[in-house]
Amino acid sequence: MKEIILIKNGELALKGLNRRTFEDMMIKNMRRRFEHIGKFTFKASQSTIMVESEDENADFDTAFEAAKKVFGIAGLSRAAATEKDIDKIKEVAKEYLEDELMFAKTFKVNAKRSDKNFPLKSPEICMEVGGFLLENFPHLTVDVHNPDIIVTVEVRDTHVYIHGNQHKGAGGMPVGSAGKAALLISGGIDSPVAGWMMAKRGLRLMGIHFAAPPYTSELAEKKVHELTRKVAAYSGRIKLYIVEFTKIQETIKDECPEELFTIIMRRIMMKTAEKIARREDCEALITGESLGQVASQTMKALACTDRATDMPVFRPCIGMDKGEIVKISREIDSFETSILPYEDCCTVFTPKHPKTRPSVEEVEKAESAVDFTEMIEEAVNSARFILID
Ligand code: ATP
Ligand code: MG
Repeated sequence: MKEIILIKNGELALKGLNRRTFEDMMIKNMRRRFEHIGKFTFKASQSTIMVESEDENADFDTAFEAAKKVFGIAGLSRAAATEKDIDKIKEVAKEYLEDELMFAKTFKVNAKRSDKNFPLKSPEICMEVGGFLLENFPHLTVDVHNPDIIVTVEVRDTHVYIHGNQHKGAGGMPVGSAGKAALLISGGIDSPVAGWMMAKRGLRLMGIHFAAPPYTSELAEKKVHELTRKVAAYSGRIKLYIVEFTKIQETIKDECPEELFTIIMRRIMMKTAEKIARREDCEALITGESLGQVASQTMKALACTDRATDMPVFRPCIGMDKGEIVKISREIDSFETSILPYEDCCTVFTPKHPKTRPSVEEVEKAESAVDFTEMIEEAVNSARFILID
């Protein structure tokens, strides 16, 4: 039986003249994501994208799972394709949806007829197919308001497509439609979630990770690769920069007041990240900060961090509880990796009593004891990157 995936656009539908561009972008993202799964073709018509394959053995299971992670998609279904013949439609509905229909108690048939030449009108298709399914699955009853399964029959230009309940898509906007930003990614729970949230709003992501060898290990870095991979399953490829931060951290520790260590370190992180971000045409920075979560995330501390860069800093987790962030991290499968116990450069040299209400003046003054320009330049120039899919 010929199978296809039917994709329904999400917010795309609202975008008027931009719709085509957004749709093309979504198809381009899907095409890239499907490349290693098999040979698929993509066809857009009437706010639906049809994903087909000439290859009989194409791996639709994997393709369908991958499609669920593509932003811009509101809903998606696996459907069986058949000829425009009512008897064929009935047989295929019975066969293709057998498992689901056996499991359901109630159902209804929903017909969409975009080919107006098809001899039966939508209500007639519903009657015919509904009657046939009742005969073949006598345990079923019809419920038009709240059925367990909606059997949908779509009569389109070349084929008829039959599917059961639609699955929820990842929602949001196609990655790339809103531009590109740099995610400051640590080994923690919050930053992968922050990246996922902004990719969902259409940002293409680049990653920047600060490592402090030998204080941080190779395993800690591998963990960040893995977390980036979890985000990339949704956002598409991420170019991840690894920036060596040891010398800067040691200098802050030696030259600046201990209680301001973290806040100064975060400011230098921002400055360094901004340089790499600009070089890579990113237009914003993204962090996983959440108001009040730790000393460096009070409003005063965030104000100090903000002043270190001219770029907009997106903090999508700012108003979320830890529990809410954890919930998303479980959904996107990054949680188990995030809680692996490797050190992060942020936890190296953490002061016992960090200042929670630093003033910008005080921090800038303390920071000016050292000229970080050259060290930042060196960190930027020696940064290496890897591409993560
Ligand atoms: P996370 O769970 O994301 O690590 P956190 O609650 O541990 O966050 P901090 O360690 O204060 O908070 O870091 C705040 C944010 O700063 C992180 O969400 C991340 O965006 C960025 N950040 C922290 N450490 C690093 C790092 N080593 N490399 C890159 N970015 C970092
Ligand atoms: Mg952290």
